[in-house]
Amino acid sequence: MCGIVGYLGCRDAYPVLIKGLHRLEYRGYDSAGIALISGDNELNVYKSKGKVADLERFAESKDISGNIGIAHTRWATHGEPNDANAHPHYSQSRSLALIHNGIIENYTSLRAEMESKGFTFRSNTDTEVIVYLVEYIMQTNRVDLCTAVQLALHQVVGAYAIALISKENPDEIIAARKSSPLVVGIGEDEFFLASDATPIVEYTDRVVYLNDEEIAILRRGEALKVLNLNNVEITPEIKKLAVNLSQLEKGGFPHFMLKEIHEQPRTLQNCIRGRINMEGTNVVLSGVIDNREKFLQAKRIIIVACGTSWHAALIGEHLIEDLCRIPVEVEYASEFRYRNPVILPGDIVIAISQSGETADTLAAIELAKSKGAFIYGICNAVGSSIPRATHSGSYIHVGPEIGVASTKAFTGQVTVLSMLALSIARQKDTIDVDTFTRLVKELQDIPNKIAKVLEQAEAIRDLSKTFTYAHNFIYLGRGYNYPAALEGALKLKEISYIHAEGYPAAEMKHGPIALIDAEMPVVAIATTDSIYEKTISNIQEIKARKGKVIAIVSEGDETVHNIADYCIEVPRTAEPLTPIVASIPLQLLAYYIAVNKGRDVDQPRNLAKSVTVE
Ligand code: GLU
Repeated sequence: MCGIVGYLGCRDAYPVLIKGLHRLEYRGYDSAGIALISGDNELNVYKSKGKVADLERFAESKDISGNIGIAHTRWATHGEPNDANAHPHYSQSRSLALIHNGIIENYTSLRAEMESKGFTFRSNTDTEVIVYLVEYIMQTNRVDLCTAVQLALHQVVGAYAIALISKENPDEIIAARKSSPLVVGIGEDEFFLASDATPIVEYTDRVVYLNDEEIAILRRGEALKVLNLNNVEITPEIKKLAVNLSQLEKGGFPHFMLKEIHEQPRTLQNCIRGRINMEGTNVVLSGVIDNREKFLQAKRIIIVACGTSWHAALIGEHLIEDLCRIPVEVEYASEFRYRNPVILPGDIVIAISQSGETADTLAAIELAKSKGAFIYGICNAVGSSIPRATHSGSYIHVGPEIGVASTKAFTGQVTVLSMLALSIARQKDTIDVDTFTRLVKELQDIPNKIAKVLEQAEAIRDLSKTFTYAHNFIYLGRGYNYPAALEGALKLKEISYIHAEGYPAAEMKHGPIALIDAEMPVVAIATTDSIYEKTISNIQEIKARKGKVIAIVSEGDETVHNIADYCIEVPRTAEPLTPIVASIPLQLLAYYIAVNKGRDVDQPRNLAKSVTVE
């Protein structure tokens, strides 16, 4: 998520920092800010909602002098995107400024503790508590900034990349990381700091990638010093950058879509962080807990969504009906809004949208609200319109998705729906404790399983070459994997422009099987589940008509290997979670076919990332 830049040296810091923020814009963000220590030791913070260009307009007329500073682009996770929540955040006395990427999970208790000591906060972020805590420790323990940061981080639970400056010391930046990236660039008598090497590469090719729980001390006139949280000094390993700018912006990947596919182990980790406990025995979704009675009393759940989110909704239907025994209907938001839907007392409407700005979904929400429904949102973009229009909800926390074809947002949506269903099911007692615990543990392990699927990317790329010139594709799945088949077909359509259809496998014989001949590739999801044998029969029907079958199978499967033309294995998991792992090879297949065809993968023709018109 978002970006950090820092500079300490002889140049004017402002232009270096602003340029760095522009370089990090590709990561997606909603506000930006900068802190500089001027020649007369003033600590000036300028920040604003919106683009880096808005920040520049705002800062233009102000004092932007100084050769030390930190800057930030924020992608809100806690507190809406506005000027006050933008980073940097001052400490209570305004003598420190801090920027942060990540999420502080225990900020509520830390904040309450600080408030009880008389501190007053200026933002709604999880971040601000860190800088208050650091200053408090400096004052009460009479220690320097670095020691205070070390001590404060011992109290912090969560993910962070942080940087701090103090007006008392214009020759020092203190930075630290855990689970969020941070790179130090080492120049001649100058240091650079950033979330990735993009803002650094034009100044120096010597960089140090900080490891988790390491603190970097950047001091004028001294060599870079790295310590861990226990004050043990670590010899920094200086690496030579061997990449060009355009590669770096996509984290070394040729397209954002591929980067986002590969990010999924981490994004799903972020999605479940703080919701599944460490032991993997419980799920807590605050939106469900806060509205426990409504979910317990729900007579019916209607899910409204569009596109990929609609496919996630179909998986949600299986999950909620299966685990919670509540009837579910899934509706295209664009259809729902223009009929006269029946909303009864006790109905809950769940609205799913990556951007939180989807016009049809927003209209469907307003309609359902006017009929008295309780509305729950599942979105990625924090502070967007849908989270504001709904009564409650859950963010998927997968970070900005830039590729137009959704990948990590889809798996994030399904992961949140899985946690939602598990959480309601446990409250309603519709699943026993053993099943609940087994499913929670399996869900906790999904990021690792996705990482295993991603190891096959090269093999899928090779396979894609065989099918680049197909004119049509059929995708088949059953049960939980029928929506995964629909999503696989949509990915291929969106970015390769090949006509593709998803079907429930057993529906083939009611019509579409007429299309099958030796020219027709059929992607069949045939993981080992409760209807595995039935799916195998459907694959046999395709093979009997000479269709070319690419099967997604569970690790160690032998039966389908003997029937299908090509098999891609995915790790075994609990049946309700198979669509998450099965969709990864389908994303990769679509991606590589589109690349082979020379398509504009990240910005396919006619498509927009956020569909804000109906
Ligand atoms: N959690 C912090 C916030 O919402 C930082 C978000 C970010 O990584 O930009 O302000």
